[in-house]
Amino acid sequence: MFKHERISAIRPALEAIVGADNVRTDEAEILMYSYDAGMARARPEAVVAFTDPAQVAPVIKLLYKNGIPFLPRLAGTNLSGGTIPLKGGVILNLSRLKKIRRIDTGARVALVEPGVVNMELQRALEPFGFFYAPDPASQKVSTIGGNIGENAGGPLCLKYGVTSDNVEKLEVVTPEGEVKTWSYADPGPDLMSLLVGSEGTLGVVTHAWLKILPLPRHIKTASAAYSSLDAAMRAVTRIIGDGIVPRALEAMDSVSLGAALNGKTDPFPRGTEAVLIIELDGGDLGKVKKDLDDVEKICAANAATAFRVAADEAERELLWAARKGAYPAMARLAPDVLVEDGVVPRPRLPEALRETREILSKYKLTAGLLFHAGDGNLHPNIIFDRRDIQEVKRVKKAGYEILKSCIKLGGTISGEHGIGVEKRVAMNWLYGRDELDFFRRIKAAFDPLDLANPDKILPVAADARAEAAPESLADRASLSPQARSLVDELRLRSRSGERTAVTGLGTRLKADRIMEGAKTLDLRSLAGRAAIDRENLTARAEAGLALEDFRAQLKEAGLNIEIPDLKGSVGGLIASKVWPGIRELLLGLEVVTADGTLLELGGRTVKNVAGYDAVKLFCGSMGAYGVIIAATFALSAGARRAQASAVEPAAWDAFEPDDYHRRLKKALDARNLLNPWIYRTTP
Ligand SMILES: Cc1cc2nc3c(=O)[nH]c(=O)nc-3n(C[C@H](O)[C@H](O)[C@H](O)COP(=O)(O)OP(=O)(O)OC[C@H]3O[C@@H](n4cnc5c(N)ncnc54)[C@H](O)[C@@H]3O)c2cc1C
Repeated sequence: MFKHERISAIRPALEAIVGADNVRTDEAEILMYSYDAGMARARPEAVVAFTDPAQVAPVIKLLYKNGIPFLPRLAGTNLSGGTIPLKGGVILNLSRLKKIRRIDTGARVALVEPGVVNMELQRALEPFGFFYAPDPASQKVSTIGGNIGENAGGPLCLKYGVTSDNVEKLEVVTPEGEVKTWSYADPGPDLMSLLVGSEGTLGVVTHAWLKILPLPRHIKTASAAYSSLDAAMRAVTRIIGDGIVPRALEAMDSVSLGAALNGKTDPFPRGTEAVLIIELDGGDLGKVKKDLDDVEKICAANAATAFRVAADEAERELLWAARKGAYPAMARLAPDVLVEDGVVPRPRLPEALRETREILSKYKLTAGLLFHAGDGNLHPNIIFDRRDIQEVKRVKKAGYEILKSCIKLGGTISGEHGIGVEKRVAMNWLYGRDELDFFRRIKAAFDPLDLANPDKILPVAADARAEAAPESLADRASLSPQARSLVDELRLRSRSGERTAVTGLGTRLKADRIMEGAKTLDLRSLAGRAAIDRENLTARAEAGLALEDFRAQLKEAGLNIEIPDLKGSVGGLIASKVWPGIRELLLGLEVVTADGTLLELGGRTVKNVAGYDAVKLFCGSMGAYGVIIAATFALSAGARRAQASAVEPAAWDAFEPDDYHRRLKKALDARNLLNPWIYRTTP
């Protein structure tokens, strides 16, 4: 299958860029890069190591010109086969690019190369009194580049967001070898967010500007023991529902706990089935203590059998060691561990856990359950022995059934471990054909020859064959009659090639902006009542709903959305990106493309790394990529706590599309039917 001569042909050119020692084709190196922390295996044809980020673009350009597949690799700890070279080609080993180039505490930014190990960055920041929020359990070895590639998360993401929320700007080498710098603050569609979590399929990150935060002055850590998982989950839902935002809210079941304790004295009461670790932080000790008191009361009211606040740093570290050591502890029990990663809306966690346990028992498997309970993200760690082929089959089936159960409960197939090769098949269960086709168009726009980490994320033909019923298992949104007629109208216009000017409440898009003979599509009819999920702290609002009405409806329900006071419609807020911070609250979108196809992207979970983050791509898309019909947002409980930071009016007029904005426009709306003046020069 592999054409070794294609590497020999370009070897001198590769060596001229990175040096002869850094182009490796020897058996030891090939073997070493044939596996990662997932289950898939495949051999690369060569491994190229870099000593300077500037070497990456010329190497990729050379590979692209010669039609050779490649993929970026760092610590290889990803759990979805993301760094397995399915089509051979070249592994780009970036692990020596590990300089922290700048720490700017004034601007609260750190500029780093991709090979910087997460924990080393934390250590470097500490003397300045700062930290970087994403804290995957693998942080002692996993790197910033890999964290960006997977959009990694960790316990602290409950309060501080996942990797995507903590990256400000990226320098990226595109699959064709161009160097680009994209920031979420750029006007226009958010290309940077699309790159985060794209698993090396859309480009290679060579520098990252990361958000850094002052270390909190006060941290309080507590544990709560329960004799049932259900009771523990009820406490979690109450804590979040009461407007308390812990910096971490983690849970483990008795199997994980037993493995982590490994014979040491069990500090929890006999019969403990679940333990919560709850950590609060802040600058105001009084507030932290008050929240801790409230948490204790909630835990007690939900039948906690013990509640203990860590007396000092040593005790706190012990608690975290048990949580973070649970995976290695499970790994000691058997030769292999499959770490599954599914997400459900938080209130559905008890059902998800019950179903997970039933599935495990049906397949006679042992697993420790670990979960980022505050985020609804569960990780069953299933132990097995890969030499037992029957057991491997059972593990895979159980894993797939757990994912299907998450989808049916309104969740998703990955919160932080990515899709890689191992969950490609599950993309068929989560999405419809139209969404998958949409993702394929994004990939083709960035990588027309399909050379950047090929056959990852998106299902290939073999995945459909592997499963009898490949169609989506997810509930589809029920559209209002107004939304339905709008979709029909767009379909008709597409058929006749009629151009459309998408208008919300007209706050930003004035009539004199409507050009090119485009016919108005007025979204004001899409203003039905928001569908508020009080327990999950989410709301779905139609695009034409005025922001003030949306806010009023939330207030009636005792909830709020942390956005500044702005005029305009829900759809307009997203499409204009007038307040870029909206990206952090946006969980799902329903969008109609220029040809009248309805897409459902994202969902109701706070974590979701299934496929490209196309939800954020629509932030700043100005109606030119698709018509936003409805959006789902993360809410806060209680009265409005903090005014979100001041609004920087987006430079609507200053938007100059990047050539990648244009490529995407061409892929999504080749006839330039939607808001045609924005991409006037698109062919
Ligand atoms: C014990 C254990 C615990 C874990 N715990 C967590 C956890 O708590 N949270 C979590 O999110 N994950 C966790 N993981 C998964 C894994 O550690 C993360 O996915 C991590 O982000 C991968 O980093 P890495 O450096 O190993 O990247 P790699 O595995 O080398 O690469 C990951 C992906 O990113 C791509 N990539 C690499 N470099 C770049 C680049 N420069 N530009 C673009 N793409 C790139 C790769 O092609 C690949 O698709 C855990 C894994 C293990 C083994």
